[in-house]
Amino acid sequence: MSKEKSQAGSSFSSIMRLAICFGVIGGLAEAAVRYTLPLTGWVSSPQKACVDEAGISWAAIIAQVAVLVGVGSLLWLLQRVRPHWVPRNVIRGVFAFVCFWSALTAVTLLEPRSILVLALGLGAAIYRLPSWRKPRNPAAVLTPKQSYCVGAMGIFLLTLIAPWAIERWGQHATGRAAPDSPNVLLIILDTLRADRLGAYGYARGTSPFLDDYAKHSVLYERAFSSSSWTLPAHISLFTGHRPLEHGAVLDTFDDRYETLAQTLAKHGYQTAGFAANTSYVLCRNGVAVGFDHFEGSYISLHEALLRTSLGQEAEKLLQWWTHRKLPYPSAQKVNQRFLKWLDGRPPQPFFAYLNFMDTHYPYRTSKDFLQRFPGAQQPPNLPEWGALVGSPQPPDAALNRRVQDTYDASVAYLDAQLKALFEQIHARGMDQNLLVIIASDHGDALGEHHLFDHRHSLYRELVQIPLIVHFPGRLPEGVRMPGTVSLRYIGGTILDFLGIPSADFPPGRLKFRPEDDPDGTSRAVLSHVAGGKFPGVYEHWPIYQGWVRSVVKGDLQFVLQENGKMELFNWKEDPQETHDLIEKADPQLIREFRAHLAGVSPTPAEPAHTSTSRR
Ligand SMILES: [Zn+2]
Repeated sequence: MSKEKSQAGSSFSSIMRLAICFGVIGGLAEAAVRYTLPLTGWVSSPQKACVDEAGISWAAIIAQVAVLVGVGSLLWLLQRVRPHWVPRNVIRGVFAFVCFWSALTAVTLLEPRSILVLALGLGAAIYRLPSWRKPRNPAAVLTPKQSYCVGAMGIFLLTLIAPWAIERWGQHATGRAAPDSPNVLLIILDTLRADRLGAYGYARGTSPFLDDYAKHSVLYERAFSSSSWTLPAHISLFTGHRPLEHGAVLDTFDDRYETLAQTLAKHGYQTAGFAANTSYVLCRNGVAVGFDHFEGSYISLHEALLRTSLGQEAEKLLQWWTHRKLPYPSAQKVNQRFLKWLDGRPPQPFFAYLNFMDTHYPYRTSKDFLQRFPGAQQPPNLPEWGALVGSPQPPDAALNRRVQDTYDASVAYLDAQLKALFEQIHARGMDQNLLVIIASDHGDALGEHHLFDHRHSLYRELVQIPLIVHFPGRLPEGVRMPGTVSLRYIGGTILDFLGIPSADFPPGRLKFRPEDDPDGTSRAVLSHVAGGKFPGVYEHWPIYQGWVRSVVKGDLQFVLQENGKMELFNWKEDPQETHDLIEKADPQLIREFRAHLAGVSPTPAEPAHTSTSRR
């Protein structure tokens, strides 16, 4: 190929063809890096190969094709004005740079500057190639370029078909539960504080639907989470084990115990998960393991694109420009996805897990509720939120009011969406043979102890959770259980209710009548959160000094930090936990609390229920 020809102007259609070709091949390269690298354990704890993560291939291709088509259009315009500035090999070099940068960015071990230099070097190498147009073999059906693209498209189609085929195969591999077995719907309202619901005494009218639903259900007045953030709390929920037993206190769950979804799938249940928490409710870190069908990070096109290098850069740019964090998928989206699955599933008893993130920062509100919660008209933007979370100082009163109103409006939005969900379930006649469990995985700090957000401690507002169980005809209605219970009791309770052997789930079950739980009010419930001087952990956060553990027993909460600091609160009389009673506490009582905590070994190698270990 002559130099003259390689520098000749390109037609718009040829630039677009080149953009699509580079986008498909570059997208697959990025997907390969993003999918396989986490499995090796080089970048963090080894993660799992998950069918739903295969969606990265189409997301990366869409992102790269879209950006390259845009860049190609600009280069074509420039070429109209200054033809000699943009010969074809420059276009090729620019496209190659974008593809290499996107794939290398997925290698999180590399520094951004090194990635830029490497991508520039590789782009320059492609630019310097004389031409990739080889003389066409007259016997060949396709040119070499076309055959590369067809090959890439073939791999892409395989990644689309494989998850579907695996899901189908998985469904045939499981046994069948009796057709009249109850269906199970487990709803986790991520980051919802119990005390912001009318059913738990809140007076602002945030939750008319849930309040009414609770009147026909069993409500647990003293339910507490096993931790103060999603990963350890969810693994406790799904395995029945405490955080130090299941070990998922920082990153990945290592499969040492069977999960609720795995057990139910083994007994013929169809298991499906729909999660708006696209940060931690993931198959690859073990939280969503065991579901035949799972929709999380790829629940929408928008979420899928945020998994790609270019999508993440676009998100940063958008957040910098708007000072707003992009919201998580809405409750409406989770409802839609679940109902679509419900309508298309085979006739088989199901276990569905729904995770809603509307009450997690950036708190999703709706204009329907702005009149009632006026501060929600100005939700805290990113700089304001960053200042609140990162400062040990008391928050500005006006800003604090806006945060409270925004949170309450998000609870009201979520409540309205739950009402819509249950109306749809009722319209399908699915609400009669259905066990429903509604809970949250942890709460959220809204200024107590000058703290916002969660994970940083274990104070009452982070560990007290709502818990409502409903089954018309088989469970009592309008019962309020006074006993102290843990989030981790839910899994074993579901299995017992369905008559499925639950010996692998450690002791701790929910009861449905106060007379069946005479010792409930004297039960101790433990929580744990790991800590340390990690990036993103502020000095004023209790976990900065190390782990924090808590015991709730009766009206008292005892909090112990790794550095030995102890606190004692009467959380019932002093829900803000402003009066530390530790100085006046009976030493015998403190010894008793410490003995409860000593039962949770600080060494993950000594779990209390080793008999259920799968390793
Ligand atoms: Zn959470």
